[in-house]
Amino acid sequence: MIIAVDGPTASGKGTIAKALAAHYGLPHLDTGLLYRAVGRQVFLDGGDPDDPADALAATSFPESLLADPHLRSEETGGLASRVSIHPVVRQALFERQRSFATQAGGAVLDGRDIGTVIAPEAEVKLFVTASVEARAERRWKEMRGNGSDVPLDEIVAQLHRRDARDTGRKDAPLIVAPDALVLDTSALDREQAVTAAIEAVEGMMPAR
Ligand code: C5P
Repeated sequence: MIIAVDGPTASGKGTIAKALAAHYGLPHLDTGLLYRAVGRQVFLDGGDPDDPADALAATSFPESLLADPHLRSEETGGLASRVSIHPVVRQALFERQRSFATQAGGAVLDGRDIGTVIAPEAEVKLFVTASVEARAERRWKEMRGNGSDVPLDEIVAQLHRRDARDTGRKDAPLIVAPDALVLDTSALDREQAVTAAIEAVEGMMPAR
């Protein structure tokens, strides 16, 4: 069984995907991390994230980079969303995601285009979303917990910028797959969101 979890940044899709993987005993791939690694590698190379050739070169990042704590930063998230616009970058990362999705026994992948491009045949597709306000507040609390004091309105502006880039790009834009179930987590805490996701999956799962 392939479970595709797509949605915008800070919607709770990562938490949900991880919880679903644990619940169903499936391997999980956070595909955003691959784009973040490319963004970080461009930076380390001194390249230009808006240049397709520089971004493509960075797709050969070393595996050890995936464990770099810098990958989680907002700066790297911004770089990831810039390199992910280039079709050559998406193509270079396609096979790795596709073979993870199609491995024997199934998998859970979260990202922006899992249900539309990487695994359109996924039996279960969730589109996890939340209001910009709810997402910004979560991100703000998380950042404060990490000792960083970015004003809430700056986070709202960052989210708007990232959403515009992810939904507006030509190749594999962030859209709801026609057969995806939309889960709005604005009013849900972490536990409620995971419970709602498991219920949704149970409803979509083929009979076992
Ligand atoms: O999910 P995360 O915030 O880690 O993703 C970082 C960026 O990587 C996103 O803003 C998006 O531009 C890009 N991305 C993508 N396709 C995916 C996963 C992430 O374009 N499947």
